[in-house]
Amino acid sequence: MAQVALKNISKEFEKGVFGIKDANIDIADGEFVVLVGPSGCGKSTTLRIIAGLEEASEGEVFIGNKMVNDVPPKDRDIAMVFQNYALYPHMNVYQNISFGLKLRKYDSKEIAARVKNAAEILDLTNLLERKPKALSGGQRQRVALGRSIVRQPSVFLFDEPLSNLDAKLRVQMRTEISKLHNRLKTTMIYVTHDQVEAMTLGDRIIVMKDSIIQQTDTPMNLYNNPVNKFVAGFIGSPSMNFIKGTLRKRDVYTLDDGSVVIKLQNGMPDSLSSFVDKEIIMGIRPEDITLSDSNNGIPLTIEVSEMMGNEIYLYMTTGSSSIVSRVPPDVEVEEGGNVMVDFNFSKAHFFNPVTEEKI
Ligand code: ATP
Repeated sequence: MAQVALKNISKEFEKGVFGIKDANIDIADGEFVVLVGPSGCGKSTTLRIIAGLEEASEGEVFIGNKMVNDVPPKDRDIAMVFQNYALYPHMNVYQNISFGLKLRKYDSKEIAARVKNAAEILDLTNLLERKPKALSGGQRQRVALGRSIVRQPSVFLFDEPLSNLDAKLRVQMRTEISKLHNRLKTTMIYVTHDQVEAMTLGDRIIVMKDSIIQQTDTPMNLYNNPVNKFVAGFIGSPSMNFIKGTLRKRDVYTLDDGSVVIKLQNGMPDSLSSFVDKEIIMGIRPEDITLSDSNNGIPLTIEVSEMMGNEIYLYMTTGSSSIVSRVPPDVEVEEGGNVMVDFNFSKAHFFNPVTEEKI
């Protein structure tokens, strides 16, 4: 087991083309950290630099307490699991799992013990004689995990390992990976573009955009205290609503989006005072918007109502801003109808429209 640290890591592929810019990451021994962000944000580059498959242009990589910039991948004591796990088709499960150890000239007793242990952890004991073509997608992915487990690495690196699986299997394998981490307690670094995967797997999550780390935090803190509009919109499904408007102050603050004037409650952050008579963006999550039973709510028009079974997503508009709310499944609403809603302003977020930083 080992901690992993990146100190001021940058990778410039060619002049001005960065894979990652000035990244500082500290991962504790035994921690499960997820790198998440949209396509091209630099997740794989970061992972490949840790693995030693890519050389950093600047900065230092530490595994354990050792600086490993000049250590080749095979000597970094890491195991990497990719999206394309490519099992050897002519080998059975036992041979596939043990192949790496055989190459490294482990003795056959040690190999047998490690494969037995990995097979038990991954529930593959009854499949050791099977060839990959006779396995399901999830079983194949478990064999790929088995190959890494038998190496007993200090750090596991996962690069979108579940993206080839169908939605149901992904959820199943996600819990398998969580269980694996609980059992092995080895440091794991996991790359995905899927925020649900990130939220459910990570002890901490690193959110990236345009080769820059935006925020590193626990799932709860990312959800409740996003540092900017990007993180706020990326984490959570349906996404946070953003209402752009002019902030005014009478007895209380109001936000005018051009169609409605939303009266904010008392107790808004002091930092709003420098935005009076200027544009701001208010962020509010779908669960913090409820249908109002008074006439003092905010008037919206329902455009689409989506029944999800356990709840309804209401897609509404003020005329200028689009707003999604999630409401209980027994609420009766009509597409095209007008409703009043209440915002839970204590859960509202405010962003500078120019920098998109939290106000
Ligand atoms: P995805 O989810 O699509 O795999 P990612 O977040 O893993 O994306 P990276 O593959 O790390 O992103 O790429 C980060 C940036 O670096 C992208 O803009 C990409 O185009 C660029 N990049 C990656 N590899 C190279 C390369 N070999 N040469 C030039 N640019 C590269």
